[in-house]
Amino acid sequence: MKLSAYNVRTIKNDNRALIFNILRKAPASRADIAKRTGLSKSSVTMITNTLINEGQIKEIGTDEVSIGRKPILLDITEDFRFAAGIILHRSDVTVCLTNLKSEVIASTGRPISHFRCADDILDYTSKAVYSLIDDAKLERDKCIGIGISSPGPLDRNAGIILTPPGLPILKNTFAVDGIKNRTGMKNVILENNAVLLAMRENILQSGGKINNFMSVIISQGIGSAIVTNGEIYRGAGGYSGEIGHISVEVGGIKCDCGNTGCLERYVSLDAVKQKFGFDDYRDIVNKAYLSDEYATDILRYIACYLGCGLVTAVNLFDLDAVILHGDYSYRPQLLNSMIQKYINEKSFVAQAHSIIVAAPSERLEKAEGNSTAAILEHYFAQKLEV
Ligand SMILES: [Zn+2]
Repeated sequence: MKLSAYNVRTIKNDNRALIFNILRKAPASRADIAKRTGLSKSSVTMITNTLINEGQIKEIGTDEVSIGRKPILLDITEDFRFAAGIILHRSDVTVCLTNLKSEVIASTGRPISHFRCADDILDYTSKAVYSLIDDAKLERDKCIGIGISSPGPLDRNAGIILTPPGLPILKNTFAVDGIKNRTGMKNVILENNAVLLAMRENILQSGGKINNFMSVIISQGIGSAIVTNGEIYRGAGGYSGEIGHISVEVGGIKCDCGNTGCLERYVSLDAVKQKFGFDDYRDIVNKAYLSDEYATDILRYIACYLGCGLVTAVNLFDLDAVILHGDYSYRPQLLNSMIQKYINEKSFVAQAHSIIVAAPSERLEKAEGNSTAAILEHYFAQKLEV
């Protein structure tokens, strides 16, 4: 079979992407890369030598753990290029730059109350990207693009933020076109914040121990993203993971989505505050740790409703972990252990294997870099012309 120029380029990019995927998790030797990718040793040598000549990866010394001849380890050159990110959150707007290892180089931000309309936000964030680049004395043409993180729902392909709960200022905002027009950057990607957290968690799981998990963000709405076999599960139109709209009470509270009894109507922090009449969640958690009965009951209520939604997700996707972000992340061990118990007792899957309920990886706690995950994913998958 004669390969077209397009196919040759695609295969070349796919092979480079395979190697990048290994190195994004941890440094590796050429032999290790060959073993893990299935590529021949000579192909790996050829591709990695080209990447070293381009400056994209580098040799970083030897693997002291190996027995016998110590192989040379390869790693990504973190400052070869950088990515910019815009994080749209219901309380604030953050703009950041990260290197190729998703490490934040610089960031700035403003409270959401500072802005009058969506155009104000787009103006501010576009200018802030270039201010950060210039202040950090980076070369503008080394920026691979801008990733925008927003709560869903959104039309990712059209680059439009639709109706994010708690963020009415951004309703029906043409985010991608707005940022492209203002910055002149050709690579601008809009992504759901839950998906971005899952992508970064997936990258940070060095060794890839957890390949099937759900990343859940609990705030005014509840968003989630599902990773199956190490890949984001997107569904037919990119709307997968709407765990907040799993009905946990038939005929329960009416929801804007058209359903009744939706999980987010019961277990968002606002809903729980309203039901129990408290102001400060941290205070409740601190009391629960001191065995205060009322505070413990509140956590049990949250664990019961969240657990109910999560059991459905775990059973449907045969997950091995659930990672919880957002409003309940203050001293989360007690609440997470209650949810863990609920899932262990009620999930069909839990009879076959363990399911971990966890807070995010320590390195992920600083969420600023998440928005760049989308653009970095595309860059390393060799799907961006830079
Ligand atoms: Zn709903």
